[in-house]
Amino acid sequence: MAFEYIPASSIEQATKKYAEMKAQNKKPAYYAGGTEIITLRRINQLNVDFTIDVKQIAACNVHQVDEEYLVIGSCITLTDVEELNYFPLLTRVCKEIADRTARNKITVGGNICGHIFYREAVLPFLLTDSVFVLASENGIRTEYIHDVFEEQLLLQDGELLVQAFIEKKYLSQEYIAIKVRQHWETGYPLITVAALKIDGQIRVAISGLCTFPFRAFEVERIINNQTMNKEQRITLALNHLPSPILDDVEGSAEYRLFVLADLIEKIINRLEGV
Ligand SMILES: Cc1cc2nc3c(=O)[nH]c(=O)nc-3n(C[C@H](O)[C@H](O)[C@H](O)COP(=O)(O)OP(=O)(O)OC[C@H]3O[C@@H](n4cnc5c(N)ncnc54)[C@H](O)[C@@H]3O)c2cc1C
Repeated sequence: MAFEYIPASSIEQATKKYAEMKAQNKKPAYYAGGTEIITLRRINQLNVDFTIDVKQIAACNVHQVDEEYLVIGSCITLTDVEELNYFPLLTRVCKEIADRTARNKITVGGNICGHIFYREAVLPFLLTDSVFVLASENGIRTEYIHDVFEEQLLLQDGELLVQAFIEKKYLSQEYIAIKVRQHWETGYPLITVAALKIDGQIRVAISGLCTFPFRAFEVERIINNQTMNKEQRITLALNHLPSPILDDVEGSAEYRLFVLADLIEKIINRLEGV
């Protein structure tokens, strides 16, 4: 199925065009790196007939550290993240997504807003309680990530993810991120964990375990409770996960839990006592 394509040079132009197309009964979508849009189109799973390229919008291309925040525009590519390396944890997670050629195209916003459920780039944003700037033809709203990301980014129809803000204090904290794959060196994850230590507490976010990425608040509570030994904490943590656990060709639910137990141990070993 072919689709129309226009570039937008401002937030207003993009969001207005989206609303206009909607009013004409078209099926519009924002176009960033285009990797998912093209992939889904090839297999006829894209219900879109009009795309609005947002890559030229200045606000979506901001990538800087100011006095208080790291500001990342939604159209910053995973390669840009890696090259400027303002936030080593984000770099580490992004570097494991796809291959270099794909990362030159894939954007942070496209990964977070994508339909393919791994959305690994969101993990560092969940760990750092980041703030998202969202725009629609009705204006701009600024939201705390935990109010707008539940399994996926809860965008209203026609909303554009413009930027994310991460407080500077998080950029230099101790972290660990591990991606375990079942197939190839650049495949989607069996499980990816990202963890960060702040104010003496370990935070954990996970992709690939369920059909959505998530911040594992319950796991955090348990692994930070040092009144239990490490083995007790790991066992208890495995009983406090969202459900269902993925059980597919990549790996059974049982195997994923086995791998996760090992990853939680690595997180504790690396971050406890740091
Ligand atoms: C070979 C390969 C391997 C990959 N492996 C992984 C992996 O292991 N883990 C992983 O997490 N990802 C992986 N990906 C990436 C993932 O599957 C998506 O293809 C990618 O994240 C989409 O980013 P994009 O910038 O190309 O978005 P696009 O294809 O442009 O858009 C994706 C979706 O998001 C919407 N969108 C884009 N930007 C915005 C915005 N700013 N506001 C609102 N909506 C927006 C679009 O309308 C569309 O619905 C892989 C991709 C490839 C090609």
